[in-house]
Amino acid sequence: MREIVIVGAGQSGLQLALGLQARGYGVTVLTNRTGDDIARGKVMSSQCMFATALSHERALGLDFWADECPDVEGISFTVPAPDGSGKAIDWAARLDRPAQAVDQRVKIPRWLAEFERRGGKVELVEAGIPDLERHAARADLVIVAAGKGEIAQMFQRNAETSTFAQPMRALALTYVTGMTPRPGHSAVCFNLCPGVGEYFVFPALTTSGPCEIMVFEGIPGGPMDCWGDVKTPAEHLARSTAILRQFFPWEAERCNHVELTDGNGILAGRFPPTVRHPVALLPSGKPVLGMADVVVLNDPITGQGSNNAAKCAASYLEAIIAHGDRAFDGAFMQATFDRYWAYARHVARWTNALLLPPPPHVLMLLGMANTLQPIADRFVAGFDDPRDYADWFFEPEQAESYVATLRAAA
Ligand SMILES: Cc1cc2nc3c(=O)[nH]c(=O)nc-3n(C[C@H](O)[C@H](O)[C@H](O)COP(=O)(O)OP(=O)(O)OC[C@H]3O[C@@H](n4cnc5c(N)ncnc54)[C@H](O)[C@@H]3O)c2cc1C
Repeated sequence: MREIVIVGAGQSGLQLALGLQARGYGVTVLTNRTGDDIARGKVMSSQCMFATALSHERALGLDFWADECPDVEGISFTVPAPDGSGKAIDWAARLDRPAQAVDQRVKIPRWLAEFERRGGKVELVEAGIPDLERHAARADLVIVAAGKGEIAQMFQRNAETSTFAQPMRALALTYVTGMTPRPGHSAVCFNLCPGVGEYFVFPALTTSGPCEIMVFEGIPGGPMDCWGDVKTPAEHLARSTAILRQFFPWEAERCNHVELTDGNGILAGRFPPTVRHPVALLPSGKPVLGMADVVVLNDPITGQGSNNAAKCAASYLEAIIAHGDRAFDGAFMQATFDRYWAYARHVARWTNALLLPPPPHVLMLLGMANTLQPIADRFVAGFDDPRDYADWFFEPEQAESYVATLRAAA
């Protein structure tokens, strides 16, 4: 039996572990937290996953919450008017298939238990180089899926493909109940205040049932970069609603009766988006392979990290199976990452583009979506597969010719 070791029991590591296990591989997962630690800990993400990513979970029989988790049926996009008089841009479109956000405090402990129930081995350890050496000496393949964990730094940053060297947003999450639903269909409500930052909110499933997740993306040094002095969960909630009253009053109106889901339903932090070289050599010379956030860490502004993690796990699973009995050497590892990067580079490009002030042609597109619904539909569909943006979104000429085609058709 081929033996595979995965460091990190997160979206990518556990999905791959369960997938390999189902195909008869011997799998060991190294985790620095038990399922209980995770369930009782702080929220880690807003983890809204679109249809393709969800389909990878479903294919492995891991979508345990598909019926229970509220659907996110579309995406709305709003920009306040510069003079504070209301909304300058305001449109919405439905997704072809719904998205869902299952709190990782619900998902990961269940997946970990399922992995063990099916005979998987779990080692509770803050894995370091000696642990990797120990496993690399006996296993066929060692994969590091440790997310933003310290150990990711054993993979060298790729200066050519990493667009930024510093955090581009001050991030915060607030999980609440009692929010007034958006009128019409449910949605990721994407609110953008130029020069200030972005605010997203959407329905999700948390440890106590349905909730809404508020995501704040403040431009560093700006008025939404305001979490440093917040000491308690109650203060965090108060700061969240104060931001809405100041910059997104229509969202504040939905929050008159909100309460935190629990004292751990909050998070604040920041990190630089980073692409890393996918193969690291241990002191013994043995190679290990990085996956998901370890190798392609994006800012959450486009809500793609869990989606990427699910797609990376599905892509690595296929590559490992297709490799049969051959050695998992450095060339296999590089090729496996390259296959994933052929997709993920599009996600990184789009995400990094949204972190910069929008150029005139993007403002034109997003503004015209107010009246040209196909633009809204296409922008929204891109959240499930961002590769499409390369054909119409990034260059002014592409945008002009796309709009001209739409006008001609209208
Ligand atoms: C504020 C915020 C909002 C987000 N919102 C979204 C969203 O709406 N949609 C979306 O798709 N993505 C979102 N993401 C991103 C998404 O959560 C991550 O990209 C995704 O979880 C990455 O999966 P992963 O498997 O790479 O790592 P993770 O899920 O982070 O898992 C890594 C695991 O490895 C463990 N670990 C770390 N170091 C070690 C070690 N040395 N030894 C053993 N175990 C270790 C960690 O404890 C963790 O359990 C958001 C992220 C943030 C911060």
